[in-house]
Amino acid sequence: MIHTLSSAHVHSTFCDGKNTVLDMARAAYEKGFVSLGFSSHAPQTFDPRCCIAPERENEYKKEVLRIKEEYADRMAIYLGTERDMLSCAEMIDYEYYIASVHYFNTPDEDYIPIDGSAEKMKNYVEKYCDGDGIKMAKQYFSLVRDYVLEIKADIIGHYDLVRYNNSRLHMYDEENSEYRTAALDALRDMCETGALLEVNTGGIARGYMSDPYPSAFLLKEWKNWGGEVIINSDCHDARFLDAAYGQAEEILLSLGYDHVMCLSHNPKKGMWEQVGLK
Ligand SMILES: [Zn+2]
Ligand SMILES: [Zn+2]
Repeated sequence: MIHTLSSAHVHSTFCDGKNTVLDMARAAYEKGFVSLGFSSHAPQTFDPRCCIAPERENEYKKEVLRIKEEYADRMAIYLGTERDMLSCAEMIDYEYYIASVHYFNTPDEDYIPIDGSAEKMKNYVEKYCDGDGIKMAKQYFSLVRDYVLEIKADIIGHYDLVRYNNSRLHMYDEENSEYRTAALDALRDMCETGALLEVNTGGIARGYMSDPYPSAFLLKEWKNWGGEVIINSDCHDARFLDAAYGQAEEILLSLGYDHVMCLSHNPKKGMWEQVGLK
């Protein structure tokens, strides 16, 4: 079990989180966190409820830096952002980047949320993927890979998010070899970049997943390739800052991992540090 609590994937009222930056920092400190990274959704031109309003991005940066300063002698705080592939924000000032794909952009300029309406996803698969769920999943994995490579992301966000709607729509069998090969091929390309693969417990906290993203078969190969992982809560509510961390650790231990990475408790010694699992 890890005794070092941390999350590099934390939202706030600047985007779609329930708590202010300060309240989130307070809650993390009370739980015994040694480090905390804020990662509000970067501004985008559509679906404004989910992301930072472009005119508030500077305010977000300033607020996180203010709280970072306030907590400097107690808990290390970092200024990050979760960038969607369709984000329009400039990549400046941030200490790290989580790359995520939350939407398909259709030829009709519509945006289909990957972890949103099952109805929209069903229509998307029918209209743009010949009704083939695996074709949709292949598109998704290659978009994630291209984006992680493009921005040289530090963290791969909720890698197999397509499972969110698959659990409702049963678009494909997650044991299907074509599906698994597509997921693994894209993941392999990202491993070479040195990006951290996030073990994301946010879906469990919100009650719609029974296990973290990504699936165990992906974590297993990632380890064989020498990739590093980070446990993140994708926290939108301070009550769930370390939700299901025990479950994530058990999975990693069962796959042979003996450590995870996390944001360093001492920024002077570097941005990331290893934490033993045993
Ligand atoms: Zn996300
Ligand atoms: Zn997130």
